[in-house]
Amino acid sequence: MPFLQIILQALGVIMLADFVAGLAHWLEDAYGNEKTPFFGPLMIKPNIVHHHYPRLFTKNNWWQSSWDLLLLGVVILSGAAWLGYLSWQLGLFVLININANQIHKWSHMTRAEVGPIVAFFQDIHVLQTPRQHALHHTDPKNTNYCPTSNLVNPILELVNFWGHLETGIQFLTGATHRLDTSNRGQGPGPEWLADFRPAHAAGRPHAGLVAKQTDEG
Ligand SMILES: [Zn+2]
Ligand SMILES: [Zn+2]
Repeated sequence: MPFLQIILQALGVIMLADFVAGLAHWLEDAYGNEKTPFFGPLMIKPNIVHHHYPRLFTKNNWWQSSWDLLLLGVVILSGAAWLGYLSWQLGLFVLININANQIHKWSHMTRAEVGPIVAFFQDIHVLQTPRQHALHHTDPKNTNYCPTSNLVNPILELVNFWGHLETGIQFLTGATHRLDTSNRGQGPGPEWLADFRPAHAAGRPHAGLVAKQTDEG
């Protein structure tokens, strides 16, 4: 295969993997809640926690962040091998998605925490930059869902991809973007969030406490 073709295909795979990771992230952020069967406790609840306490998951190691994606990757690769569809393109796609949470985690860490190699790859935009990911964490937290590269988000935001998708879903099903209690003025969050409150915030009244006081008062 000519070199240029390999480069273009790799670029396409990197963008597709980023888009798929963003699609999953958007589904978790926009629909369902922590009580949604199976996906609620496994994926949506950690996302709610992440929006309220973005730095909390940086304490997790690779395995804690990636075991479920690794499992999914093994299933996909095993299925492809069984069907005779293994290729380097699929391998690259799975490799990126297995590490999507890790790459996301890096964009919440300081340069000292990630080390010089990861910081270098963020600087040259091979990995998503913390600056771009910060756009997702800006109220109302409904843009820039793709977590692994800087390539896909600007294109999707330019055409308001997620906004149009949500309008279409609302038109077809009536379902609207879930309330995000981590946005200013939309709290307090659910009471169980208090269990995840970082120790450094101990001096402040937390969401659960505020909710309780409101209930009692
Ligand atoms: Zn999010
Ligand atoms: Zn994040």
